[in-house]
Amino acid sequence: MKTVSSLLDAAWHERYRRIASLNIRSSIYDVTNRCNLRCKGCFFFSSGEHHVTEETDIRKWEAFIDKEKERGVNLAILIGGEPTLCMDRVEAFYKRLPTYCATNGLIKVSREKFPEMMVGISLWGGGEDEKILRGKDTFAISSKNYEGDPYTYYLYTITPRQVGKIEPVVKRIEDVGLKVHLQLLSNDEGVDGFSWRPEELRDLRFEMDEMLDQYPRTVISCKYYHEIITTGKMMGRAFGWRECPSVTESLDNRQPPVKRLIHFYRWAADLKSVHRCCTSATRDCSTCKDGAAHMSWVMVNKRDHFNSTKDLQNWIEVYEMFAKLYRLIPW
Ligand code: SF4
Ligand code: SF4
Repeated sequence: MKTVSSLLDAAWHERYRRIASLNIRSSIYDVTNRCNLRCKGCFFFSSGEHHVTEETDIRKWEAFIDKEKERGVNLAILIGGEPTLCMDRVEAFYKRLPTYCATNGLIKVSREKFPEMMVGISLWGGGEDEKILRGKDTFAISSKNYEGDPYTYYLYTITPRQVGKIEPVVKRIEDVGLKVHLQLLSNDEGVDGFSWRPEELRDLRFEMDEMLDQYPRTVISCKYYHEIITTGKMMGRAFGWRECPSVTESLDNRQPPVKRLIHFYRWAADLKSVHRCCTSATRDCSTCKDGAAHMSWVMVNKRDHFNSTKDLQNWIEVYEMFAKLYRLIPW
């Protein structure tokens, strides 16, 4: 049987050892049902996940987070709605757990209060696409709020209209001293012209590779991720419900059981309800382009990457990318 030692040289073995000790146990929390934007294609609102009664008592949030910690969670991923509308809840997480906050960047997180909290700012393309899909060019505001911040990066959701035009967006991000992670729009609300065609995905893969080659200090990514996210294939298997690792544990009744994120939950803002997965509960899994779910898909299928040195190196690079996004290892 092939082993880690037989496949990797000393340098790669050290990289493997560094990530193998991380033991990440993440869960996702809807901090609020409200947002200061209403983007077309927002999975949260389009799937009606905001139709729960939001818990407003901060003591209940604190007790809930303590229980999550007892459950073994060691990485809290805050989404919404817009988490920064409820800074007291964000603070309750940050005081108790390593915390990542996904935001549209319109409200600045205080670095006095949250010195090392990871912040991921959503960006849906260049200024024109942002105006169509989100009603405003959010970059103009978020880049002023976070310029040069060492714990912030852009989560750039690429739309089909962006193919061939990514470079200026990446350059804009580099110019304000921030980093970027690339992911793909799933077009949950069927906006005209924003659904993927196979030839666009093929072109996009090579464009993403080019961006990584051209901006290696700015783009947090790897080429295997580009292959997986644009083809939806890994080791000849197709991504979808049968393969997805990011399903809430209590709702996962798949048989035979699937390799999945251990103890993963996605909690609603009432602190009682759970959602099906890390993204839209109503999305057709066969069209899902969720970046984190694809990354996790690779990560939980380590053994399948023991065929060759290249396969295992690919697996390590995806794991490192995930760890970098949460600053579990340095950029
Ligand atoms: S900013 Fe985020 S949560 Fe708010 S509407 Fe847009 S995608 Fe949805
Ligand atoms: S929508 Fe995507 S993340 Fe959710 S269960 Fe389906 S494949 Fe997984």
